[in-house]
Amino acid sequence: MTDYLELIPKPAASTVNVGLSSPKLSTLRSILGEPRSDYTGSCQPITGPFKKRIVTKSVGPFKCTGVDVAVTAIAEILVGVKKEVPDLYDILGTAGMACARKVKIKQKNGTIKLGKNPSNHSWGLAIDIKLKGALDNQGDNKCYRGLLILSRYFNAAGWYWGVSFPTEDAMHFEVAETTLRRWKKDGKLD
Ligand SMILES: [Zn+2]
Repeated sequence: MTDYLELIPKPAASTVNVGLSSPKLSTLRSILGEPRSDYTGSCQPITGPFKKRIVTKSVGPFKCTGVDVAVTAIAEILVGVKKEVPDLYDILGTAGMACARKVKIKQKNGTIKLGKNPSNHSWGLAIDIKLKGALDNQGDNKCYRGLLILSRYFNAAGWYWGVSFPTEDAMHFEVAETTLRRWKKDGKLD
């Protein structure tokens, strides 16, 4: 049986997120608007123009709260995982999706520094995934084997994997720039 919690070196950037990029703040703001008027380091409610699109729903193995189209997309991604890697599906959990706050970056000494910009979680288009209740350690340039397997499914559906952020964040998946623009073009975000 595969040890999904085995720590492996983070994959080379060229081998993941092929053709995908993290959505720009300017794109998020122009498509959905600003989630709140102010941010701290803690989760606060989304009060911006798209708050009516925020839903809490089951995506199969767990419930999450985010933009309706993104929550539906996660449920569809996980249908494939359930079919092909059922024992990985069985240990999936989440540490949260929608959360309006500033970016948090783990420093080398283990402390958390707040960035100046809001996190992409503020738009409810990003999710942090747990395996067997455990969170991958941010910034150690390693990742759980199970997250690498899962990333294939998220990437195929047009979601960006945070493993290639300047500070490695392998628990994190978010709707990629091109996917967000396509949803907008297709009228899914009107
Ligand atoms: Zn995250």
